[in-house]
Amino acid sequence: MTATIIDGKSIAERLRQQIAADVARFTAEGHGVPGLAVVLVGNDPASEVYVGSKARQTTAVGMQSFEHRLPAETSQDELLTLIARLNKDAAVDGILVQLPLPAQIDTDRIVAAVDPAKDVDGFHPENAGRLMRGLPSLLPCTPLGAMLLLRSVATNLQGMHAVVVGRSNIVGKPIAQLLLQADCTVTMTHSRSRDLPALCRQADILVAAVGRPQMVRGDWIKPGAIVIDVGINRLPAQGTTKGRLVGDVAFDEAVHVAGAITPVPGGVGPMTIACLLQNTLQAARERRGLAKPAA
Ligand code: NDP
Repeated sequence: MTATIIDGKSIAERLRQQIAADVARFTAEGHGVPGLAVVLVGNDPASEVYVGSKARQTTAVGMQSFEHRLPAETSQDELLTLIARLNKDAAVDGILVQLPLPAQIDTDRIVAAVDPAKDVDGFHPENAGRLMRGLPSLLPCTPLGAMLLLRSVATNLQGMHAVVVGRSNIVGKPIAQLLLQADCTVTMTHSRSRDLPALCRQADILVAAVGRPQMVRGDWIKPGAIVIDVGINRLPAQGTTKGRLVGDVAFDEAVHVAGAITPVPGGVGPMTIACLLQNTLQAARERRGLAKPAA
């Protein structure tokens, strides 16, 4: 058996086209151009690449991009002052502070300082709490993108057993909440789980968000399962200095067992920025009283 490959690149491309059309209509109706502010502190090379592509894709769908690049030695108070200014700025609908932040800055303080109505990353405790309660909120982008990919191969998830490997606040926990809302039976696993392969073998839907290259082997997967690989890891590869990107799942093995699987690269990764743009448009609509927060 060979699994259906879930083409995140194309699905993200179609989503961006849809967002561009929606933004054009929104501005034509006189609501102003939605704006996304991205804040980068320091010069972590991976973060610089992400911030660059966020800015490019924001303008490509017709929204305004405001980039704030601050030096690595920026103090917490300086960053809080910038966030307070962006919270008040009428041209800014969404605020994203690129993580990780330098050690002198308390990430939780910063996340909590962003106006929840502009929190397009969906990390603010208010949005996380609303998600937990099943209330409308801005949803974290990677989990949202992963769910869209999942729904591209299975519209009705009711009663399916989903196993999530990884319990981070930005990926594992919110994905588990979204799967629960979709009426899945959810098992959350982590580094202290006993017999992880046996737990994974029970999964109709297996979500890997671990950060360990190719940890999930082919024989951990139930035949026919849907596998969503969130991991982005670099493996040293001959002839390149950067290495090659691999997921948390051993794709070459899993593809012969799973019913459907997301590749890395080209799976969940491209969906994250597309969902960020969708969240920015949603925040712009809600701030103008044009829409209730999305369910
Ligand atoms: P974190 O490091 O925050 O969390 C990793 C989780 O995996 C933890 O809950 C940890 O358990 C668990 N874990 C670690 N080792 C094991 C193990 N041996 N067995 C079982 N569980 C284990 O990572 P993130 O959630 O931020 O990211 C996960 C992956 O997703 C990374 O590869 C990251 O690059 C990628 N990612 C991709 C994005 C995208 O756009 N596609 C966006 C964000 C992340 P414990 O809690 O017990 O320590």
